[in-house]
Amino acid sequence: MEAVQAQVLSHYRSELVERIRAQGGVLSADSLTIKLAKEFGFCYGVERAIDLAYAARKSFPAEKPIYLLGEIIHNPEVNDQIRNLGIKTIPNKPTDAELNQLQREDVVIIPAFGTEVATRRKLEEKGCVLVDTTCGDVMSVWKRVRQYSKEAVTSIIHGKAKHEETKATTSQATAYGTGHYLVVYNLDETDYVCDYILSGGDKAEFLAKFRGAFSPGFDPDVHLHAVGVANQTTMLRGETEEVQRRLKAVMLRKYGESEIDRHFRFFDTICGATQDRQDALQKLLAQPLDLLIVIGGYNSSNTSHLAEMGEAKLPTYFIKNAAKMESEKMIRHYNQHRREEVETKSWLPAGKITVGITAGASCPNNLIEDTIRRLFELRGISVQQLLAS
Ligand code: SF4
Repeated sequence: MEAVQAQVLSHYRSELVERIRAQGGVLSADSLTIKLAKEFGFCYGVERAIDLAYAARKSFPAEKPIYLLGEIIHNPEVNDQIRNLGIKTIPNKPTDAELNQLQREDVVIIPAFGTEVATRRKLEEKGCVLVDTTCGDVMSVWKRVRQYSKEAVTSIIHGKAKHEETKATTSQATAYGTGHYLVVYNLDETDYVCDYILSGGDKAEFLAKFRGAFSPGFDPDVHLHAVGVANQTTMLRGETEEVQRRLKAVMLRKYGESEIDRHFRFFDTICGATQDRQDALQKLLAQPLDLLIVIGGYNSSNTSHLAEMGEAKLPTYFIKNAAKMESEKMIRHYNQHRREEVETKSWLPAGKITVGITAGASCPNNLIEDTIRRLFELRGISVQQLLAS
């Protein structure tokens, strides 16, 4: 990994971002001030995954094919770079036909958010060489969920049921016996589950509502007597705390204080990097800003939560790269509620403005630099001259 670090840095580093960071995260000229959140961009898990992918390419002979399960992280530019190294992408959950095309000793990279137990087993049976970049923080969630399963406690996972990390986590709940899980996405879903625990309800409706988000054979009348909360590592901290608080409150009402340990468990599995980025954004949002730019892949969970935090306070634009800021009059940005890119006109107000900037844990600094340069360019200011002066 050490041997590839210079190459990795050359692809993703930004001297400009480091310089702005060193001077307090602020850059100002004429009518435009940009303020960076104190923590943003690549986290330790992402850095490690990328280093391992580059190291794998360097370690194995050039003619040996290397495959990657899905995306190494949720950032299109980084995934393009990985493909440029000659690493081929196969689906995150390959079918048997796709697996059959792999040969014994082919190298397969497991991404930072891990893979499902069954996929891993099949790759091992096939004799593939695995380069496992799963983040340690994701593995901590797996450990917790396996523990719940062993104790016949149903895992209630606060997360996105279709996200690779949550799929990998749910597979851990059922891999070693008869464990069960249910994924809840938000507080409305949590309240629905709480009502069901307390008062029962329409089982068919319950199962239809959570289709695709519970374990095979899950029965809400049977498997909600003892629950343990875990979460996708990149959810909003405040929301995850509220999910566990509401579930605990309902279990206390139903079973009482003396029985609570038999019916409710909780373990905080939000990762440190997600937490740091959310805390830093909260501090940035406490300052006077005119708008916020959030940079990152549109399928990145932690980035979408940063955008959500911004949206609650001020005009927020979630973009995957600087090219989305087409002009002062037009920006194309991701609307996560509609799950599509939308256009906003006259998004950059005239006159003196302060723009906040943050980026998800899968966003490299060079994309943040492009964004900063583009913002100043739209105001007719060259960052080069600005830094020289
Ligand atoms: S966001 Fe957290 S869990 Fe995900 S790779 Fe980074 S450090 Fe690991």
